[in-house]
Amino acid sequence: MKIRKNIIIKGIVQGVGFRPFIHKLVQNYHLSGWVLNSNQGVEMDIEGKTEELNNFISGIKKKLPPLARIEKIDINQLPLRGYKGFYIKKSMIKEEDGFVLVSPDISICKDCLQELFDPHNRRFRYPFINCTNCGPRFTIIKDIPYDRENTTMSSFKMCPQCQSEYENIENRRYHAQPNACSDCGPRVFLYQNKKKLEDIDDPIKEAVKLLKKGEIGAIKGLGGFHLACDATNNKAVAKLRRLKNRETKPFALMSFDLEKINQYCEVKKKEEECLINHSRPIVLLKKKKNNLISPLVAPNNNCLGVMLPYTPLHYLLLKDNFTALIMTSGNIANQPIIGDNQEALEKLDRIADFFLLYNRDIFNRCDDSVLKIINNDNVFFRRARGYVPHPIILDFKLKEVLALGGELKNTVSFSRENYVFLSQYLGDLKNLETLNFLKKSMLSWKKMFRTNPEIIACDLHPDYLSTKYAEEIGVKRKLKVIKVQHHYAHIVSCMAENNIQERVIGVAYDGTGYGDDGNIWGGEFLLCDLKEYLRVGHLKYYPLPGGDKAIMEPWRMAYSYLYSIFGSKVKTLATDFNRRMDYNKLSIIEKMLDKNINSPLTSSCGRLFDAAASLIGIRDEISYEGEAAMELESFCVSGIKERYKFRIYKEGEEFIIDPQEVFIDIIKDLKEGIDKKVMAAKFHNTVAEFTLNLCGKIRENTGINKIALSGGVFQNHYLTEKIISLLEKNDFRVYTQRKVPPNDGGISLGQAVVAGSEESVYSI
Ligand code: ZN
Ligand code: ZN
Ligand code: FE
Repeated sequence: MKIRKNIIIKGIVQGVGFRPFIHKLVQNYHLSGWVLNSNQGVEMDIEGKTEELNNFISGIKKKLPPLARIEKIDINQLPLRGYKGFYIKKSMIKEEDGFVLVSPDISICKDCLQELFDPHNRRFRYPFINCTNCGPRFTIIKDIPYDRENTTMSSFKMCPQCQSEYENIENRRYHAQPNACSDCGPRVFLYQNKKKLEDIDDPIKEAVKLLKKGEIGAIKGLGGFHLACDATNNKAVAKLRRLKNRETKPFALMSFDLEKINQYCEVKKKEEECLINHSRPIVLLKKKKNNLISPLVAPNNNCLGVMLPYTPLHYLLLKDNFTALIMTSGNIANQPIIGDNQEALEKLDRIADFFLLYNRDIFNRCDDSVLKIINNDNVFFRRARGYVPHPIILDFKLKEVLALGGELKNTVSFSRENYVFLSQYLGDLKNLETLNFLKKSMLSWKKMFRTNPEIIACDLHPDYLSTKYAEEIGVKRKLKVIKVQHHYAHIVSCMAENNIQERVIGVAYDGTGYGDDGNIWGGEFLLCDLKEYLRVGHLKYYPLPGGDKAIMEPWRMAYSYLYSIFGSKVKTLATDFNRRMDYNKLSIIEKMLDKNINSPLTSSCGRLFDAAASLIGIRDEISYEGEAAMELESFCVSGIKERYKFRIYKEGEEFIIDPQEVFIDIIKDLKEGIDKKVMAAKFHNTVAEFTLNLCGKIRENTGINKIALSGGVFQNHYLTEKIISLLEKNDFRVYTQRKVPPNDGGISLGQAVVAGSEESVYSI
């Protein structure tokens, strides 16, 4: 008996060769009908014998193309139509509110790479070679469905040869939307001294020559520009630092293959898997001693951020050349990555000696993703290219929310049904350019996923640009604004990606977050579910002399602890710290503390690390956020079991951790001339131990055994592994973050989930 079924498949099914796959699969059975991309996903209408049709449906799940991901299949049996043959129908938009998942950008595949370097192939050295299994996706897509006319490839008309590949079901470029060749597709060109160089054969070979001479190039990548130079050339790296006005913040590297990376970094199995993953993130790896890389690439840091090439253009630049190239985001100061040719030529002119451009537009700018392997899992430092726009999928549905995130490393999130779409890393929301990038991305995401938020969520901090903007939209569109406390959002982001709805003990360790008592929080123990939180413990408040200024000058926080502990006697302590400090500066801090001038109270864990780093003698001033803490971590030696003392006491209903004795002990160690490496490890061990200790007390009181860890401090390798192992040894169930960054890049996810859960109590 013949039947007809209409099948709608949701998931990552567009731009991953799904329709050709269906077309091929149909050939194995005697079926007829059609398939098309809709804004729901992939829809097909198929007729055939019951058994064959059912076999076909189970075949879909079994033989899925490598990049496809099925979330849901809807099947409806309908009256027969009498289809003849099978064909791919032109996409059409059926429902205005349907949405499909869009694929992230995918690094060049093996087949394309082989063709790229094959002199007999018609795409030999063509820098935009791609196929159904690889190439640009998110960065070129303007709207769904994912068809060429909805991408920035729409301005290129395929030549007859490309067109025939595109139409030939047997071809691996069948329906590959960005399909192109040197006759019909995008081209690269070189600019120098504001002029396009017309009479050069191969702009890429020319760029290689310039890089080898020590010049700095602005190179257009997949999601935006990179500033590139030879990473082994000290002079070039120093020049890049000077021109980019970047003192010590590490630069990312790109090398041709794993063999090259192995020359300067240690690569463990799990790290290797991450590097070769088709998302091609930057992976933080341990430096090898005596390597060829300029020490200026990542001074004061025992790691290097490294990635493998991901576009054909990168492969052409790096094949047989360079141990590593610096490939750092092409932007100025703290502004977003630049994606537009004209803008690059104007803004990067001061830094770059030459420009390697191409004429395909980047629609969605997207930085490189950054991650590190901690406790055998990947921990995101930055989630962007290769991972967005993959959603976080929940076991429960949310109201439609637009969450605007925090301030640093910001992202925005949209919730829709049981999905949360977390945007690419947008940057530190401290200037108009980043706010504009946020607004532009927001519109693009809203359109792409057909969302119509009824709630705006933001941070509690009254001065964040994101909070102000949320209030502005709230008033303008008459939408409810829900403000979510920063550390609560951190913990819920961890709960959400682990699909936990019940109450947990949340440990949030980070730099700065506005507390509901108006103080600066950052070392918090919260009892949380998705509806409410209760602060049950925190690091003791100490004043932060100078407010934000103290973040860049860790010595201020060290002195705040010391002065609070020892009072005016502190100056008589004969420590290296006192010897390094300017007496007048210390007196000013004392006055500020005595008179409570610009010295807000903080329970920040990040500041505790800063203070320890300064007192131990590792770093008194920093040039980028978190630098002192990272350096302190890199000093840790393994095998140290000792720790410093601490005190936990109860104040009302809250537990307070007072690290006073940590500082007294460090001063003792300083006097005894203990090695900094040992002190660093002892300090970390102490933080791990008081975390366990307080979690134990909270478990005693509540019976809750599940711990969610979040906050930027959990990017600290040594500390995180220590805390997890201590907690697990004591039978806690520990949840950490693998899908979104534990830093403020995950805040918008937590906000969306809190605001989108029913009966949220956090409305204002
Ligand atoms: Zn390919
Ligand atoms: Zn062509
Ligand atoms: Fe935070």
